[in-house]
Amino acid sequence: MKKVERPKKPLIFYYMVVLLVMILLNILLFPRLMGQEITRVDYGTFLTMLEGRDVAVVEVEQDVIYFTDTSEEPGVYATVPFNDPDLVDRLWESGCKFDQVMPKEMNPFLSFFLTFILPIVVFVAIGQLMSRALMKRMGGGAMGGAMQFGKSNAKVYIASETGIKFTDVAGEDEAKENLQEVVDFLHNPQKYQEIGARMPKGVLLVGPPGTGKTLLAKAVAGEAGVPFFSISGSEFVEMFVGMGANKVRDLFKQANEKAPCIVFIDEIDTIGKKRDASGMGGGNDEREQTLNQLLTEMDGFEGSKGVVILAATNRPETLDPALLRPGRFDRRVPVELPDLQGREAILKVHAAKVKLAEDVDFNAIARAASGASGAELANMVNEAALRAVRQGRRFVTQEDLQESIEVVIAGYQKKNKILSDKERMIVSYHEIDHALVAALQTHSAPVAKITIIPRTSGALGYTMQVEQEERNLMSREELENQIATLTGGRAAEELVFHSITTGASNDIEKATKLARAMVTRYGMTEDFDMVALETVTNQYMGGDTSLACAPETSAKIDQMVVDTVKAQHQKALKLLTDNEAKLHELSKFLCEKETITGEEFMRILEQGD
Ligand code: ADP
Ligand code: MG
Ligand code: ZN
Repeated sequence: MKKVERPKKPLIFYYMVVLLVMILLNILLFPRLMGQEITRVDYGTFLTMLEGRDVAVVEVEQDVIYFTDTSEEPGVYATVPFNDPDLVDRLWESGCKFDQVMPKEMNPFLSFFLTFILPIVVFVAIGQLMSRALMKRMGGGAMGGAMQFGKSNAKVYIASETGIKFTDVAGEDEAKENLQEVVDFLHNPQKYQEIGARMPKGVLLVGPPGTGKTLLAKAVAGEAGVPFFSISGSEFVEMFVGMGANKVRDLFKQANEKAPCIVFIDEIDTIGKKRDASGMGGGNDEREQTLNQLLTEMDGFEGSKGVVILAATNRPETLDPALLRPGRFDRRVPVELPDLQGREAILKVHAAKVKLAEDVDFNAIARAASGASGAELANMVNEAALRAVRQGRRFVTQEDLQESIEVVIAGYQKKNKILSDKERMIVSYHEIDHALVAALQTHSAPVAKITIIPRTSGALGYTMQVEQEERNLMSREELENQIATLTGGRAAEELVFHSITTGASNDIEKATKLARAMVTRYGMTEDFDMVALETVTNQYMGGDTSLACAPETSAKIDQMVVDTVKAQHQKALKLLTDNEAKLHELSKFLCEKETITGEEFMRILEQGD
């Protein structure tokens, strides 16, 4: 893909030009002042030089005498005159010239020009340039010909051989199918017009960050072979009211001229936020105007003309409803986190760019990287390649990939972080307990790996559970088991060391979140039945929730969350007490080996009791 950008000179460029011109003028007009140094000498030296006929030109003033010597490049000297009646005779005898040494009063016309006319000319010129630059950004205006200002600065992509194609986007088949139709429409519009079908004006790509929304839009450009205007929502946000709206106007004007074409607005939530219904607090006029202009423009052209608007966002819930109604962004394409197959495909796309060992099993990696986005998977492949280089290998192995998952999830190994023996022991027990509680319950994901090598993310160790297959539904029992597994770490500390540590803070957070969701969102309690007490406010960005209920209900919810976690904590404790011998054996083993695999763990667990 070739990017064609309009050249744009910043204001500072004009300032530099003015400055340069002024310096040049100075050098031309006052050449002798530049770099000329005046040597002060005493009167005696002056007389000696006169005797020796070393003085070329002399200029006598009221209280200073300037003179130059006779060398090739005469130096300028100054001395103080004395009451010397013979001076003129002496000068005459020495044969020097009487002339002006230092520049004096200028030609009155030149002086007038320099002191009055030039500054005015310079200021007027700067003023002109500034107002033109301002006009350019504001656009519009009453002046004739000013219509060509106010450019949107959208980057225009023109498809070329090297462009991104749909094959570069792995998984996301539904999204690709959807967009394929758009591409097809741009190629043969008459096929659709014959039957009377109208293309959607706008297609909104929604999904979590890093799932390939921007990549998909670029792929559409690569496939469609029509001009592709790409602009990010934040580029519309301007300092002055009205500028953003002007950019929108200009963007659509250009698009209309170039039709058929595609306009892509990335991160549209920056301009498309819900407008303030109350109008209180002043609101944000600039953003509102920009959004209004966008709405107007989208209504303004007919879809049949062949301008398709793509937009991407990871916060669809914040968008103004007016943007989403039919006739504007009437098609919404979800770009979700990849499933197992998708992850495998994405890994393969990116692994095609690196040298691989023959035995690499992408399926295993994809299973371990559950929940990872396309961007994270791309990053994993790269981390694996970097690790291979660090270890002086020429290809990437399964182990590199495995390790890179952990790097992306938990950070780099922190080999030089020293844990005391006591701490190592505690961490071993903590991690083994997560694993043990998980293994002793049915409906828990099998343990794949347990390690007590600290990571840069701050984790002192962790237990990796890998599901055999993709999970879409979670039963109540599975959720409870997850909570029990999370509380397992702390349970061991209580059971074995009879004291508790800060090491469980992350587990506590996760367990609470799960328990809360069970009560408020999954309708898994008798008391509240199927009532939604909380709603997710941003589906793709961390899943924050908002609570809408009476204070008494809220207190009751809190109590139920506590009860749920407590019950599971007790369950974990019981499981551990029943298997205390295994707990000690496994923890000692982990403490010695630092990292053990799921198989090693299961073998010891299943050894005859
Ligand atoms: P988004 O715009 O959804 O936040 P991007 O499109 O910017 O995500 O994706 C970032 C990078 O992640 C891409 O450049 C690409 O390398 C990788 N990536 C994401 N999704 C995919 C996918 N489905 N197939 C291949 N690569 C992907
Ligand atoms: Mg993006
Ligand atoms: Zn833990």
